[in-house]
Amino acid sequence: MPSQIDLHSHSTVSDGTLPPAELVAHAAARGVRVLALTDHDDLDGLEEAATAAAAAGVTFINGVEISVTWHKRTIHVVGLKVSPGYAPLAEGLRQLREGRHERARGMAASLDGVGITGSLEGAYEHAKRGIISRSHFARFLVERGHAKDVGAVFKKFLVKGKPGYFEHRWASLEDAVGWITGSGGIAVLAHPGRYDLGKTNMLTLLHEFRELGGKAVEVVTGSHTPEMVPHFARLAHQFDLLASAGSDYHGPGQTYLDMGRLPELPHGCVPVWHDWPECAGWDIQGEVVRAA
Ligand code: AMP
Ligand code: MN
Ligand code: MN
Ligand code: MN
Repeated sequence: MPSQIDLHSHSTVSDGTLPPAELVAHAAARGVRVLALTDHDDLDGLEEAATAAAAAGVTFINGVEISVTWHKRTIHVVGLKVSPGYAPLAEGLRQLREGRHERARGMAASLDGVGITGSLEGAYEHAKRGIISRSHFARFLVERGHAKDVGAVFKKFLVKGKPGYFEHRWASLEDAVGWITGSGGIAVLAHPGRYDLGKTNMLTLLHEFRELGGKAVEVVTGSHTPEMVPHFARLAHQFDLLASAGSDYHGPGQTYLDMGRLPELPHGCVPVWHDWPECAGWDIQGEVVRAA
């Protein structure tokens, strides 16, 4: 049975295609009972999602996914149970959002350079209410017929060495983890299988992340292959980190996994929710084993 706990998802506030309330309704319909909304660098959807979750009987967890530059590479840190009112977090995210506008102009200029015009306006058309991201440029490029789908866009455009790529500096790992933990939240290293780091750098990242106050690693996530799951379960254990699970859902027909289809955490993992009162009585597989 798939897990009923999903701690990574996106709404129209970042690069998802469903507004927060519709995202929650979709989660509920798919059997998700504990949901975190983790929009990129933005907390704006949390209130709307929490209200919808209360109405749908879904337990809602405030979340965020922070963009980080670590040794010239982009990595993502999810914050769970963050407090939106914590000023350093709110201000840090505001700066990241501002930087995204500047980067978008650079990306558009790069696309102009290969004769693809109008991408800045086109991407903002897709950015309905929050941040501007590469996903919005990707949707514009699909619309214009430059690739068959968003997945194909990221093979030809928007990545290092390809048109539309623009070097950008995100938050430091120290700041991202600090904002999350300072706000009372739990820092989770997102989808580690997606970072092309090599073995040694991955160990260094996990070590630094933990030293800085990071608490968990996404072991189960929409973009991990079946081989990556036990691999990161072992690394989590080795570094004494908790294990998290989230679909990284971005909306119907988008890449990554649909909600309500997450596999169980492997045995031996200590789930990030192990001591959450909301999840009292849930086992590591995200199923209720006894009345709470
Ligand atoms: P940004 O934070 O603006 O750089 O955009 C990153 C987002 O682009 C990620 O959160 C994904 O939603 C999306 N993305 C990145 N790489 C891919 C890919 N290979 N396939 C589909 N979506 C991707
Ligand atoms: Mn995304
Ligand atoms: Mn991510
Ligand atoms: Mn994500």
